[in-house]
Amino acid sequence: MKLTRRDFLKLCGGTTAGVALLGMLGPESFLEAAPIDIPLRKRIGEKTTICCYCGVGCGVIVASDENGKATNIEGDPDHPINQGALCSKGAALIQVTNNERRVDKVLYRAPYSSDWEEVSWDWAIDKVARNIKKTRDENWTYKDGKGRVVNHTEAIGWDGSAIVNNEEAYLFTKFARSLGITYLEHCARLCHSSTVAALGASFGRGAMTNHWIDIKNSNCIMIIGSNAAENHPLAFKWVIKAMEKGAKLISVDPRFTRTSSRADIYAKMRSGTDVAFIGGMIKYVIEDIEKHPENYNMTYIKEYTNATLLIDPNFKGPADLDGLFSGYDAGKRAYDRSSWVYQLDTNGIPKRDLSLKDPNCVFQLLKKQFARYDVDTVCSITGTSKDVYLKVCEAYVATGKPDKSATIIYAMGTTQHTNAAQMIRSYSVLQLLLGNIGVAGGGINAARGQSNVQGATDHCVLYHILPGYLKTPNPDDVDLKAYLEHYTPTTSDPLSANWWQNYDKYIISLLKAWYGDAAVASNDFAYEYLPKVDGDHSHIAMAEAIENGVVKGLISPGHNTAVSGPNANFERAGLDKLDWLVVCDLWETETAAHWKRPGVDPSRIGTEGFLLPARASMEKEGSLTNSGRWSQWRYECCDGPDMARSDLWIVTELIKKLKELYDMEGGEYPAPILNLTCDYGDPPDVHKVAKEINGYDLETGELLSSFTKLKNDGTTSSGNWLYCASYTEDGNMAARRDPTQTSAQANIGLYPNWAWCWPVNRRIIYNRASVDLDGNPFNPDKPVINWHPLRGEWEGDVPDGGWPPMSQEGTRLPFIMTSEGRGHIFATGEALKDGPMPEHYEPWESPVDNLLSGTQNDPAVTIWKSLVKGDVSKYPIVATTYRLSEDWNAGQMTRNLPWLVELMPEMFVELSEELAAEKGIQNGRMVIVESARGKIEAVAVVTKRFSPYSINGRKVHQIGMPWHFGYMGLAKGDSANMLTPNIGDANTTIPEYKAFLCDIRAK
Ligand code: SF4
Repeated sequence: MKLTRRDFLKLCGGTTAGVALLGMLGPESFLEAAPIDIPLRKRIGEKTTICCYCGVGCGVIVASDENGKATNIEGDPDHPINQGALCSKGAALIQVTNNERRVDKVLYRAPYSSDWEEVSWDWAIDKVARNIKKTRDENWTYKDGKGRVVNHTEAIGWDGSAIVNNEEAYLFTKFARSLGITYLEHCARLCHSSTVAALGASFGRGAMTNHWIDIKNSNCIMIIGSNAAENHPLAFKWVIKAMEKGAKLISVDPRFTRTSSRADIYAKMRSGTDVAFIGGMIKYVIEDIEKHPENYNMTYIKEYTNATLLIDPNFKGPADLDGLFSGYDAGKRAYDRSSWVYQLDTNGIPKRDLSLKDPNCVFQLLKKQFARYDVDTVCSITGTSKDVYLKVCEAYVATGKPDKSATIIYAMGTTQHTNAAQMIRSYSVLQLLLGNIGVAGGGINAARGQSNVQGATDHCVLYHILPGYLKTPNPDDVDLKAYLEHYTPTTSDPLSANWWQNYDKYIISLLKAWYGDAAVASNDFAYEYLPKVDGDHSHIAMAEAIENGVVKGLISPGHNTAVSGPNANFERAGLDKLDWLVVCDLWETETAAHWKRPGVDPSRIGTEGFLLPARASMEKEGSLTNSGRWSQWRYECCDGPDMARSDLWIVTELIKKLKELYDMEGGEYPAPILNLTCDYGDPPDVHKVAKEINGYDLETGELLSSFTKLKNDGTTSSGNWLYCASYTEDGNMAARRDPTQTSAQANIGLYPNWAWCWPVNRRIIYNRASVDLDGNPFNPDKPVINWHPLRGEWEGDVPDGGWPPMSQEGTRLPFIMTSEGRGHIFATGEALKDGPMPEHYEPWESPVDNLLSGTQNDPAVTIWKSLVKGDVSKYPIVATTYRLSEDWNAGQMTRNLPWLVELMPEMFVELSEELAAEKGIQNGRMVIVESARGKIEAVAVVTKRFSPYSINGRKVHQIGMPWHFGYMGLAKGDSANMLTPNIGDANTTIPEYKAFLCDIRAK
């Protein structure tokens, strides 16, 4: 039996909803849906894939008929994460492939035309390649104004996406770098770039520490800045599992969400005040540690974090400098971070004070900074009621005991702020104080909104990094030696693994993978081919560069920036100024059809447009990496439209055509293109790309089994060292579907033989922090690893570094990616631009003054030329944006699906009953929401889910709206991002979508 519309609606737990019924669907309706009670029947071609929507990574079975058409799609009952269940989006997947709205022709829009015209693939590939070549050749820079070699072009932007497979994302990076592109970005910049910066600075790796199933091991779960029940429903299943065993759920959110409705404690918090909220908890913990150290894991705090380490006496913090740290230069809006460093002994090893009493030790500096975060001040900032706040502190802090654990789950409610990285840092500090990193049921779990955010980020479709988080060289990195000296950390501490000491092996192996025989020791392994990037080339910078005419051509595979970018009116107008724009997508997106948007005249828009029909996830093969770092293989299960091609095919065709053109015609700096390896067959074989990513022993031709085998002498290759071990001589690890476990692995829900997980199949990173100095688990009931003294080896998960326990000779500290081996309560040196410890600042647009200092906003954010700031007297209401269960990001892959459109047909804005009464707004009627950037129309949903805050004795209103809508698709509506400011986080420039000012009125 096929899933019908009626089945679908039943599965989603409601009937045609409409916005007035929003919120009546409980998360349990999804959870109870599995296993789907559709009897399996013999089908032709039943294959598995992974859901293309969110980062949970649910398994899906697709059945297709003899013509290659999908006949049924349902949850994979064998899959350990979703166990057969799917949420509303997953249950509607069949309408992604069987959909008359799919782009099924190669389309071209001539400058000033009001129509698409149909062209052939050959013509389009040739024309796009010629456009790229022309723009590149006319705008090539060999040396910058200071005479430094840069070998780049700033005239072409590449705005990729996280919807593509790993192999495609990898080729995006490889191809864009070979062209010398500096404006290389993808949508992870807009959703989780602050996660990478903050978690990297805290622990050494910028990824979710645990995995979805592990949440069941928690004693307490704090979901903050995330509505997991709605946006990651099958991850929330594991929250429910934990609660069934007695765990407490805390929901911290400005809005009473579906997650809040399941929580033991709901704490209302004004958008953008996370550091204040968590800062009060940090103060609570510090005071409690001093009174009751027996309730905390003091071994963990003293040995595994940097709490005992001494900081340079010249360092000063916000308690002394009115919200600033030492080294601030107001003119540059930047810090000199030279005092944010450890005191070193004569051997160059950081000094420590095991008593935690030295005024310069990290613990005392933390205590001093957060002494200001008393409960009254915190609650005056956040708007949380004091009794609820104290309940949160009590429940969460109880997990400081060695045999307890708590996890923090967050998403874009946290990541999209001007001080987002510091918000995530505050979570990290709290978790380190409670000994919650590296343990079962602990960690910081970043919920990714797209299916392959983790993988596309790992492969670094981002201007500032190369695959595996290697740094993009800047013009001062004049040769490979200078580059390696710049980025390879050194230490003389024998307890530090200092894993990045292997940097040379990783970059040289990458250059061998990209340039093959053209990369030899005598030419620095073709290091000069890499474009050198100076300054910020992230999303907001790229939008300004488009506006200013610097970027003239844009390639946008899978990213609908016209809906997802901040200050959308500004970004859309920028697209009109491009010479050419290439979009690869399943749908006619707002970005592709920017010249069709309301209020513009196509005959005045000269951008040459290409809309290349792409294949959907179930129509192609490859791997993707979920939030929990699981790389999972999905198969080509069915056919898409005849003319649709995979991004892998499109990008390799472009590479081949560019090679041909440069070979025949010459051009500027052709060597990186001509020498780029691209031997994947015709059509390209995705397995060859996956193997290239893994890497080879070039002397034997064998695939490598681990990145520990990589060398710095040019005898190994690896496109991404982090994925070395993902495709070995034993086969494709990501394709594994073996659920077998040892009893210890089953106890905590590890599936080591199911798919593959980076790094080296380690499922919980920093897991050597889960054991005491002798290697015994702090929590004997839920060991992640333990040391077997007789066999002299670790058992359980893959240990994070194979060294023996800390009490033994030859050991190393457990945070092997940080320079000194400890978790960073204090993030030293160059790690972050706006402070070594988190400090509260108000959002860029805020209705109130900062109660903790005279520094109102994050002092290190970039003020962009195009930025417009709203005046609180005109725009007094705090606004935020969010996602819906039935919609996905910029909407193109949900607003074109009839079932989902029926559930969520139109744009709306939620506001409190009090605000509605003040403004004379009625439920279900149209309203106008206006900010300093633009105005939108939406249906008013008057709800108890929002209520006014009392902020320092003053009433403050907040409203909220989804950000999925746009002017194309089956369901249309104004885009929330017409209101949001183009200002970003100080470290990553992720835009501040989640707190801005507006006004609202009845239409
Ligand atoms: S959208 Fe996320 S939770 Fe829903 S089925 Fe897909 S992967 Fe699972």
